[in-house]
Amino acid sequence: MSKLRIGGLVRFSANDYPGALAAVVFCQGCPWNCEYCHNPHLLAPAPASSLNWDEVLHFLEKRSGLLDSVVFSGGEPTLQSGLLDAIGQVKNMGFRVGLHTSGAYPERLQELLANIDWVGLDIKAPFSRYEKITGVTGSGERALASALMVERDPADFEFRTTLHPALTSEKILEEVADELSKIGGGKWQIQPFSARGSRIGGVSRVRMEGLAGRLARGNLQVAVRC
Ligand code: SF4
Repeated sequence: MSKLRIGGLVRFSANDYPGALAAVVFCQGCPWNCEYCHNPHLLAPAPASSLNWDEVLHFLEKRSGLLDSVVFSGGEPTLQSGLLDAIGQVKNMGFRVGLHTSGAYPERLQELLANIDWVGLDIKAPFSRYEKITGVTGSGERALASALMVERDPADFEFRTTLHPALTSEKILEEVADELSKIGGGKWQIQPFSARGSRIGGVSRVRMEGLAGRLARGNLQVAVRC
């Protein structure tokens, strides 16, 4: 049995793997502590959920042919050494595999990439300013190493950034755009912060109109999800 610790399961999603219907497995635990995290209950290493991996597999067996993919999200899925086995089991069932990651463990990401079809890599800030968001020294270096890795790997990927009005000004996004463009570009999706489930709230909405055009440069294709 995989030792994957499960924090939750979304049985059907059309939004978590581009162009595919997915089940989303929320993995427990994260080494970072972003103030705006909308899944703070997933940060502790031990799950509050009573769901285990065997139950998830049982559910997936019944969805074979009805869902295209399984997305491992979190928390931070690459925190767990059981992830590689879990991915193998899901692939053997015929599902495509997606991964949502912050890039906190580039060494593990490297091991996993050969078995992953699509990666959504969270980009929180310019790499030199990560600590302000994550609260963890060295987090920017780890995220940069992971970003360079997905750029080099044949698996499809997308960078994803949450726009929080107090933490991610447009000027900061301009810096992120320059950095992502410099390392090779690719798809970059920006989504507004949602207070639902997070430990902070009461912020005004950010002006998103025209943002994609202002941030696009070089090989960077920007999409804004409102
Ligand atoms: S890296 Fe993701 S899961 Fe971890 S604290 Fe930050 S937003 Fe939450």
